Amino acid sequence: MTSQDPKNSSPRGASTRRLHAGHDADSSQGFVNPPIVRGSTVLFPDTSTMRRRAQKYTYGLRGTPTISALEEVIDEMEGSHGTVLVPSGLAAVSLPLLAFLSSGDHCLVVDSVYGPTRLFCDTMLKRMGIETEYFDPAVGPGLANLMRPNTRVVFLEAPGSNTFEMMDVAEAASIARSGGAVSMLDNTWATPLHFRPLEHGVDLSIHALTKYPGGHSDLLMGSVSATRETFGRLRDAQMQLGINVSAEDAYMVFRGLKTMDLRINAHEASALTLARWLEQRADVARVLHPALPSFPGHELWRRQIGRSTGLFSFVLDGGGRTEAAAFLDALSLFGLGYSWGGFESLAVEVDLSDRRLATAPPEGPVIRLQVGLEDVADLQADLERGFAAVRALR
Ligand SMILES: *Cc1c(COP(=O)(O)O)cnc(C)c1O
Repeated sequence: MTSQDPKNSSPRGASTRRLHAGHDADSSQGFVNPPIVRGSTVLFPDTSTMRRRAQKYTYGLRGTPTISALEEVIDEMEGSHGTVLVPSGLAAVSLPLLAFLSSGDHCLVVDSVYGPTRLFCDTMLKRMGIETEYFDPAVGPGLANLMRPNTRVVFLEAPGSNTFEMMDVAEAASIARSGGAVSMLDNTWATPLHFRPLEHGVDLSIHALTKYPGGHSDLLMGSVSATRETFGRLRDAQMQLGINVSAEDAYMVFRGLKTMDLRINAHEASALTLARWLEQRADVARVLHPALPSFPGHELWRRQIGRSTGLFSFVLDGGGRTEAAAFLDALSLFGLGYSWGGFESLAVEVDLSDRRLATAPPEGPVIRLQVGLEDVADLQADLERGFAAVRALR
C-alpha cells in the first residue's frame, strides 16, 4: 500500500495510512487481514536461491508474513526505516542497549526512567563493563557537559515513568548526535499517535506494545523502530540473540492497532476528567499529569506532544504507606496490578526510592492511575471510596 491515493494526489491521513499499512488484501485472496503464519522452516526453490537468500522469507526467526505486517504498520506510525519485534516491552529496552553498547562504554540514562530499565543497566550492563550515569530530566543543555568520549548511548523517556517529567527531546537527541552517541527514547506513554521521536532527531523509538497497542491486557510484546543508519545493527543484534515473537501475538497487536486511536481518545478524555477533579480536592497535594497547566513540564509537553493518554499520578496530601494501603484497598473498580494500557482501570502505589537524583520529597504517597474505558462517573465514585477510607484513619 502506498501513502498516496492513486486516484487523488493529496496525501492520506494518519488513520487511513495506519489502517491500510502492512497488508494488501490482493496478496491473500481478498481477505482484509493478514494470515497467521506459523513456522520455522521456509523452503527455497533451488540451491542458487538458497545461497543468495534471494527470497523475502528465509527462516521463521527472521520473520513471517504476520510479523512483517505488524512491523510495517509500526514503521508507518513511527516514520521509521525498520522495526523489530521482541517478546516484551522490557526486551525492547534491553535489545538496543545490547546492540549499541560494548565493554568500556558510558551510557547516559534519564533518572525518571522505567524502573526495570534501570535494573537492566545496573545489573547486566554493569557486569559487561558498561557504566551507566543517570541525569536529571531537567538537565537541559547541561546534558552536553555529561557527554564523554566513550558515551555511546543516551537513553530518554519523556514523560518519565510514574512522575511524568518532561524534557526537550530534540535538544537531547542533538547533543547525543554531536557527541557521537545513539539516542533512544521509550515512547510507550505517548505512543506514535501522539509523538514520533524520529522526527525530533532520536535514532531509536522503543515501545511496550503490551500497553495501548495490545490494549486488552492479554499479551506481552515490544518494538524498536530505527532510522536507516541504525536499523542494520539493531536487526543484527536481534538475530544474534535469536529472539522474535509468535505470529498469534503479532496478529493480536496488528488487530489492536486498528482501534488504538479510538481507545486512546477515550482513555485520554476520562483521565483528564479525573485529573481535573482530583486537582480540586483538598486531600490531594498535587496531580502529576503533563496536560494540566499546573504541571511543571506543561509548556514543554504542549509544544512537544500536545496530547495525553490514560496514565497519570497524584500525591495524597500527607500520610504514608498506611494511607496509601487504605486508599488502594478501598477501591473496587480500579484493580491493583502492574502494567497499563488495557481496557480496565488500575491503581498502584509508586515507589520513588530508586531515583538517584534529589528531588523534593512528595507531600504524601504517590498513587498512579491507569484510567480504563469504564464509565468515568463509576471511576470517580470508586476514587471517592478511597478518599473516604483515608479520612477514616484520621
Ligand atoms: C510497561 C513498560 C515497559 C515494559 O513493557 P513489558 O511489556 O511489561 O515488558 C517499558 N517501558 C515503559 C515505559 C513501560 O511502561
